[in-house]
Amino acid sequence: MLTKSIHLTMKFKILKQSFLLILLFSVATVAQHKFVNTPPEVSPMPMKPEMTEIWEPEVKIVTAAKISGNAPSDAMILFDGKNLDQWVSKKDTNKPAAWKIVPGDYMEVVPGSGDIQTKMVFGDCQLHLEWSTPDEVVDGGQARGNSGVFFQNRYELQILDSYNNRTYRNGQAGSIYKDHAPLVNAVKSPLEWNVYDVIYTAPRFKADGRIDAPARITVFLNGVLIQNNATINGLTLYTGLHNYPSSHGDDVISLQDHGTKNQFRNIWIRKL
Ligand code: MG
Repeated sequence: MLTKSIHLTMKFKILKQSFLLILLFSVATVAQHKFVNTPPEVSPMPMKPEMTEIWEPEVKIVTAAKISGNAPSDAMILFDGKNLDQWVSKKDTNKPAAWKIVPGDYMEVVPGSGDIQTKMVFGDCQLHLEWSTPDEVVDGGQARGNSGVFFQNRYELQILDSYNNRTYRNGQAGSIYKDHAPLVNAVKSPLEWNVYDVIYTAPRFKADGRIDAPARITVFLNGVLIQNNATINGLTLYTGLHNYPSSHGDDVISLQDHGTKNQFRNIWIRKL
């Protein structure tokens, strides 16, 4: 009799736990659906920037090999050291990109001049881009050699001097900013060049404008896989939770002026 009553109590406990789990799952699902399709550039709930910064554990450091930046025959050249003809200012798209060129070599951010963006628009693509952070190390954290590549002008693959420079793991070089930390830290010193090779799949939207399939991204940094078909969870936001805007099509690729003299060279793209 006693054993039976213990059994009944246990059964009740298990039922209660299952009910609570189902309730939690339902609330989470409803909450998730609420995040989708909220207006762009606004977090679904008020938050502080630190609330989306993840610091631990530190991303493991890997020493990468040297790789060449030659474009394949079917690539569109976005920058080959000659001019910024494929780029315009983001602030005023009627104006040329105001970054400096060291002819035959690289372009450099002119701090304060603003972001630049491609003239052409892209969706699914393979992008190759080489970048270097300022040789002289002055600041730390997010202030050291910050820039970024924005796919479809919205989703940022972070550029940062992450060589001996701790910051939150989902904000270091190779992160999808405040979304996914890179798998490893394969960044070279500021005296060297880094190479991004990216396969980007644009998000798909339903006819009513809501998100159908989120964007996906695979990234190699200096030949080392650092993002493996990662799901991009929405617009890059500094503050708050990422979420998808309503439907959008192909859009420009932009490069960020975050106030430091980052350099870029050998940029080419293949539409997929
Ligand atoms: Mg950035």
